[in-house]
Parts: sequence; C-alpha cells; structure tokens
Amino acid sequence: MKPDFIKLNGLLPVIIQDAASLEVLMLGYMNQEAFNKTCTEKRVTFYSRSRKMLWTKGETSGNYLTVASMGLDCDSDTLLIKAIPAGPTCHTGSYSCFGNQSNKGFLYKLEQKISDRIDSDADGSYTNALYKKGINKIAQKVGEEAVELIIEAKDNNQELFTNEAADLLYHYLVLLKAKGVSLQTIEGVMRSRV
Ligand code: AMP
Ligand code: ZN
Ligand code: ZN
Ligand code: ZN
Repeated sequence: MKPDFIKLNGLLPVIIQDAASLEVLMLGYMNQEAFNKTCTEKRVTFYSRSRKMLWTKGETSGNYLTVASMGLDCDSDTLLIKAIPAGPTCHTGSYSCFGNQSNKGFLYKLEQKISDRIDSDADGSYTNALYKKGINKIAQKVGEEAVELIIEAKDNNQELFTNEAADLLYHYLVLLKAKGVSLQTIEGVMRSRV
C-alpha cells in the first residue's frame, strides 16, 4: 500500500475512523514523512498545513490515535485509518470533530469507557469498585438488575422500566469485561444466527 505523493502534490488526505464505533473522528493531511512515521510508530502523525510541521495527534493532549488498520481508497489518493482514540479527538474536547453521527456506536463507546475505568484503576469510580469485587458479585448484580427489570415490566411506569433496562445493560457490559468477552464477539455470535 503506497500512496503516490507526487501525484498528490505532497499531501495525502486522511480520514480517521474509530475502530470500535466506526464513527468518523477527524480529517487531516500527511506528507511522506508523516505517513512513514505513522506506519512505523502505529500512532497517527499528520502534517500541519498551518504550522508547516509534523504533528503527532495527542502530543500535548495525550489523546493519541493508535492505528488499528489502514487502507487507501479506489484510486489511492485518500487514506482511511481505523484508530483507537486515547481520549476525545477534537481539540474542543468532543469525541469527534464532526459531532455525534450515530447512536449505533454508543454501546461500543460505553464498553471502552468501562474498560478505561477498570484498566486505569480509577478512584471513586463505581465501575472500578464493582469490578474489584469479582465475577460472582458482578454476575449477582446482573441478576438483581434483571429481576428489577422484570418487576418494572409488570408494572406500568415507563420511566422506571427504562431506567432498569439501562441498569441491566450497563451491568451486562461490566460482566462481559470481567469475563474477557468483547461486545464484538457477542455481535458476531448474533450475526451468525440471523
Ligand atoms: P493534540 O494533538 O491533541 O495534543 O493537540 C494539539 C493542538 O493541535 C491543539 O491545541 C489544536 O490546536 C490542534 N488540534 C488537536 N486536535 C485537533 C483536531 N482534531 N483538529 C484540528 N486541530 C486539532
Ligand atoms: Zn480517491
Ligand atoms: Zn475538531
Ligand atoms: Zn436497577
């Protein structure tokens, strides 16, 4: 996979997509040097047209973009990178420079957030505290939330039912994390059934 930088007048447009949610995070440009650096380091480096220098996304914010995969388009003049963002990609603090594009990736983003809380051993985090109690306790919580959902299903309060449904989904994701099973795997199992 080799972009032709001469044909491109030196600059390759690069679309960054979240490898998990598939939402578009940002667009930037790479010169040959930025492209090479990105390929070797597996961390996205652009060429800043305004500052006229290499710019590794995240160099000051810490919100690096780790390359999961990349590929050129049909006529090799645009690069698509699927990346794992270490934090919000936009300099405004937003997840994406293009705002929220879909709710479909929401569960994957939540899965990532749960994972972050646990892996960083975050203080004061309910998720982290629950995780530390172990599989049995987490599984028990899933059971309790399921029972609460059943109770609300029989009742007529739409708001309480909705809240319990959210509780169950959240605890379900924590249990998946504790068991080392990804949401992607579950999606795969379900896709194979339809
Ligand atoms: P960062 O690369 O995240 O450390 O941010 C360094 C600087 O790059 C910021 O202060 C912004 O000026 C600029 N910047 C960061 N992220 C973006 C972005 N997604 N789009 C455009 N400029 C950005
Ligand atoms: Zn093209
Ligand atoms: Zn932005
Ligand atoms: Zn509940």
